[in-house]
Amino acid sequence: MSSKAVEAVLFPGIDVRVGRVSDSSDVLVVEAVSTAGPGRCPDCRKQARRIHGMYQRSLDERPLASRRVMVRLRVRRYFCDRNSCSRKTFVEQVAGLSERRRRSSTGLTGWLRSIAIELDGRPAARLCRRLRMAAGRTRLLRLLVAPAVSGPCAAGAGGG
Ligand SMILES: [Zn+2]
Repeated sequence: MSSKAVEAVLFPGIDVRVGRVSDSSDVLVVEAVSTAGPGRCPDCRKQARRIHGMYQRSLDERPLASRRVMVRLRVRRYFCDRNSCSRKTFVEQVAGLSERRRRSSTGLTGWLRSIAIELDGRPAARLCRRLRMAAGRTRLLRLLVAPAVSGPCAAGAGGG
């Protein structure tokens, strides 16, 4: 599958450029780089100006042509230049594709959440495997809990 085709199908209107697509065994590895402008600090919302470096994330993505898809996304790490902000650096997020602390793309997260709402843990996990989507029971259950909350209490949210 060509990089242009992958970009058109998976990332329409999203600020990424797809580079190499490696078609190895049953996983399609899609290399992508963010083309978004400087992001804002997640804590103080100040617009970033200085790049700290590049950073590669691996995101599970929705399947294509019966293949699991893994996105190797290159994003920038920025400095937060606001002196009063306790955060020194942060990694940019690509709107519509990546979210903080999430290993799934935004698109895949939406699909998994829908499945988790409709099916119980085991059938949901089986369906995901069959459809080549990376998700275990625990991960599916976690999607049913309210969107991730940052802070020390987040780990215990929802009990169980
Ligand atoms: Zn900041």
